Amino acid sequence: MGEETCPATTQPEVRQLVDQTKRYDVLIAGQGAAAFSAALYAARYQMSAIIVGGIFGGETATGGIIENYPGYPEIDGFDLMLKFREQVDKYEVPVIEENINSIERSDDEFTVTTEGGQTFKATTAILAIGRERRRLWLDHEEEWTGRGVSFCSTCDAPMHRGNTVAVVGGGNAAVEGAVLLSKYAEQVYLVYRQDQFTRPEPINLQLLDAAKNVEQVMGTRVMELKGDDGLSGIVLDNEVRGSKELELDGLFIEIGADPRSELASKLGAELNDQGEVLVDKEMRTQVHGLFAAGDLTNASGDLKQTITAAAQGAIAATAAYYEVSTHPNACQWHAKVEA
Ligand SMILES: Cc1cc2nc3c(=O)[nH]c(=O)nc-3n(C[C@H](O)[C@H](O)[C@H](O)COP(=O)(O)OP(=O)(O)OC[C@H]3O[C@@H](n4cnc5c(N)ncnc54)[C@H](O)[C@@H]3O)c2cc1C
Repeated sequence: MGEETCPATTQPEVRQLVDQTKRYDVLIAGQGAAAFSAALYAARYQMSAIIVGGIFGGETATGGIIENYPGYPEIDGFDLMLKFREQVDKYEVPVIEENINSIERSDDEFTVTTEGGQTFKATTAILAIGRERRRLWLDHEEEWTGRGVSFCSTCDAPMHRGNTVAVVGGGNAAVEGAVLLSKYAEQVYLVYRQDQFTRPEPINLQLLDAAKNVEQVMGTRVMELKGDDGLSGIVLDNEVRGSKELELDGLFIEIGADPRSELASKLGAELNDQGEVLVDKEMRTQVHGLFAAGDLTNASGDLKQTITAAAQGAIAATAAYYEVSTHPNACQWHAKVEA
């Protein structure tokens, strides 16, 4: 690849073999939208690629119905991720279904160790391991996600036309979520444990005050989720309109998310004040050969969606391709890989 004099890099029939002794052109961490998109582009650049990711499909697969991924007016997130995976499988990129425990960098290569003790070497690495949503840790919270409980107002607000919903949280995401939901739902409750908002931007608070169908329930916590096979209401620790119970069609938990940035920061990548991995417009981190894509990064600001993650995966793979193909040692590496 790269210069014409270089031997061709790995051929498709070689790629399907998982080989712990070989040095891959790129190791892609994660199994979500950013990772599969990166793998698709890497494979089409004829890089030898390997995916190492904990759980198939990432957040998209567990997010329920997706209505804002172009080309699919309505599709279950799991099915969408199956399509991502099927497209990558055409190129026989190996997928190791394990979490990564550590990544080390020395002599211009990355050594990745999984929780099961497997190790893989690569010239470049793309981290696409997403974020950990903060939870309320109430019974049924996880089980009813997609059945009344949501962690993403941007994604699910349009499904609540004429409904009664509540948003939990007191930051920008919660306030923006309540304002967005007010355009669809008949009644929105914004439940916050503090007595006043200190974190949202003033413009968001103005919009909140202007939304007449949003009732601000301050100094109040959600204690319990009610329902049978999905959410039908919540129990609060204070009364609202004379009752501690609210009947709801939807509950939006918008209390933040923590980027899984530990692997990147241990390698020396810089993070912003929200713990996101800082990348440039080509998804390069400050560590040579290390790229990051998707919800883990600062790249798309607050708009963290399947489409932005997929786009970043494609950009990261392109930058990794240029990194590998223009590196002075690229020919020798490929010769070793072929041997
Ligand atoms: C409930 C919900 C509904 C949503 N609905 C929509 C929607 O309708 N439309 C939309 O566009 N977006 C939606 N989103 C947002 C969208 O799902 C995310 O923006 C998108 O999944 C981000 O993709 P990603 O690849 O960056 O990360 P993720 O999808 O989070 O994938 C991260 C991957 O990394 C793996 N991983 C984690 N740690 C490690 C490790 N140490 N080693 C290896 N692998 C690891 C995980 O198992 C996972 O496979 C929703 C999100 C949620 C939570």
